[in-house]
Amino acid sequence: MSLSNGRPYRAIPGPSETPDAVQRAMHRSSQNIYEGEIIALTESLIPDLRRVARTAHHVAIYIANGHGVWEASLANILNPGDRVLVPATGRFSHGWAEMAEGLGIHPEIMEFGLQSPFDPGRIEERLRADTGHEIKAVLGVHVDTATSVRSDIAGLRAALDAAGHPALLLADCIASLGCDRFEMDAWGVDVTLTGSQKGLMVPPGVAFVFFSPKAAAHRPARVSRHWDWAPRANPQSYSDHFNGTAPTHHLYGLRAALDMMMEEGMEAIWDRHATLARAIWAAVDHWGQAGPLKLNVADPAHRSHAVTTLRIGAPQGQRLRAWCEENAGVTLGIGLGMAPPDSPERHGFFRFGHMGHVNPHMILGLLGSVEAGLGALDIPHARGGVQAAARVISAAAPPAG
Ligand SMILES: *Cc1c(COP(=O)(O)O)cnc(C)c1O
Repeated sequence: MSLSNGRPYRAIPGPSETPDAVQRAMHRSSQNIYEGEIIALTESLIPDLRRVARTAHHVAIYIANGHGVWEASLANILNPGDRVLVPATGRFSHGWAEMAEGLGIHPEIMEFGLQSPFDPGRIEERLRADTGHEIKAVLGVHVDTATSVRSDIAGLRAALDAAGHPALLLADCIASLGCDRFEMDAWGVDVTLTGSQKGLMVPPGVAFVFFSPKAAAHRPARVSRHWDWAPRANPQSYSDHFNGTAPTHHLYGLRAALDMMMEEGMEAIWDRHATLARAIWAAVDHWGQAGPLKLNVADPAHRSHAVTTLRIGAPQGQRLRAWCEENAGVTLGIGLGMAPPDSPERHGFFRFGHMGHVNPHMILGLLGSVEAGLGALDIPHARGGVQAAARVISAAAPPAG
């Protein structure tokens, strides 16, 4: 017997749940890409994307995933042989550094471990020591999706400024945009990247690079025609937007998602994610009073509001994930980059994705399922985590009427 029939919740950190309105918008026949409504629809996305990233700068849209815009962002500003600084807070920082290496760029990794944010003070020291300004860019991951560590991007700008260093500031906001507060222009970010499938609530397949005029001025000697952001951001013809066929259905989905986001408002979206994240933390802290389950990041100020990495000890992470999927219709995320990929310890970690189209009944359902799983599997825990989460939500939401 399984109890899992009903609406599933893939509580993985991307692809996130897509709203019904997005799915309906995408459910249509082939579209004309030479004339007609797709052209105005595409133009209409740009100002709303800028509102989401809090920027007045350019945006280039790619048919790509996050890895694609990792490459696109570097390919438009750096030459092979250039040096970049990568403060590392988890697997995703390293992934971006590896992408740079593949382009012949030299990443210098500053390791900050798997449980803490990067330290702008240490980065400032390193930049001060770079008197010849050999470092051309700093690659900051806002939320590292593997560790769920959130770092201080505005602090990174302050470090660059305090050191008087001209390097460009790049921010990977693939996990965080539309979930955690992010303000590209106010925070002095030169290049921001994101994808469709996390906070933007659209299936994977399109990705975005926002770039400042300062970044645009760093054009390298050669840019591949496909990654070149200039024609995408300043198209002479419709096909310049995507260097070929438009991702027609994704554009309709994105229009629907942005309509929902504009109606809710960015501040309200950030508040909703913050409250739901606090509910999750309250539950886990409660369970952990009498058992092995712990949040990966100790300081709430450094935790993502979009994804939560948990430590429970092997093999309990794997057992709990399997139980929740088989019995409760909830898919939890695997641990990523927390232990060597072939070691048994990797089964001691798992993650909750809570990005985009999420609300209290989904989060309380997730937490209730986990608490049931802890009980079914005889994993020690203090009972009552769900009540602790419910108290957070009760306190945050006003009475009806
Ligand atoms: C998901 C993610 C990526 C990679 O995106 P893909 O679409 O899987 O290529 C990169 N960085 C961060 C922070 C992410 O969350």
